Amino acid sequence: MNTKRLFRLPKFVLFGLAALILTLVVGIMIPTQQSSFSNSLGQSVIASSLAAPATTVQRVTEIKKQMLNTWQEEAKQKGVYQAIPKRYQGTTLNAVKPNASDKIIALTFDDGPWPKYTEQILSILKENNVKGTFFVIGRNMKNFPEIGKKIVAEGHTIANHTWHHWYHRLNPKAAAYEIDATEEIIYKVTGVKTNLFRPPGGVLGNGPAAYARSKKYSVIMWSADSHDYKRPAAPRLISNVMRTSKPGGIVLMHDGGGVRDSTVKALPDMIQKFRSSGYRFVTLPEMLELEDKALQAVAKK
Ligand SMILES: [Zn+2]
Repeated sequence: MNTKRLFRLPKFVLFGLAALILTLVVGIMIPTQQSSFSNSLGQSVIASSLAAPATTVQRVTEIKKQMLNTWQEEAKQKGVYQAIPKRYQGTTLNAVKPNASDKIIALTFDDGPWPKYTEQILSILKENNVKGTFFVIGRNMKNFPEIGKKIVAEGHTIANHTWHHWYHRLNPKAAAYEIDATEEIIYKVTGVKTNLFRPPGGVLGNGPAAYARSKKYSVIMWSADSHDYKRPAAPRLISNVMRTSKPGGIVLMHDGGGVRDSTVKALPDMIQKFRSSGYRFVTLPEMLELEDKALQAVAKK
């Protein structure tokens, strides 16, 4: 930019530039104590890196804001904080239709967090660099918060699967409690706000699913059932899944609520089978985002 051009800028822009320069200079001159904070995902935030030449109160506010932003950014990258696209809010779905060339699949695990099995599944996913989606039960989250935290810390998506895992018809107040209390415990333990819900047993007509939709949740069913609750041998479990899987599919498995040895045993081979057929693994929010983009592209044409 040459000088002539600079002076052609409107006055308020010049004032703005001057104010910005002044702010930066003052910011450097005010001694800031180097201190660091750890956010809930363990990332440190260096306070002095924030240019906040202001009163202590303002500075603290800025730091808090920055911590929140950093946390959200990191969580977003890890796939744990993603607002679902508008078109899925208040809807029910059991699979998506991605771009034809995109072989995506979502592994989902219900009924945890649960001692031993959730952690075994988490290690398998980590070893294979796979991110999944965990539909947790509120009271399990309360009983095993450390395992719940681990789900999020390792980059998986955590989602709502009611507090009690009841199948019977619930009155509106009870249905609301099932969703709200679980949403709250997930937030309290992990800092994640979820708007993905899976009804226990896939029951859609007993109250909680309708309440969840009214709260703009996306109700997530499945397209490939492992039938792992029947505890089949690993090859059978894998074939149950592979037989019914297609790009955009959602696989139902369980990490809690009972003996899940067959799920743990089958998972590594299942992951390999998917990969050798050209699939890649996505979390539910990623999956919705991908279909949303594909639909947007079609709409533009
Ligand atoms: Zn369940």
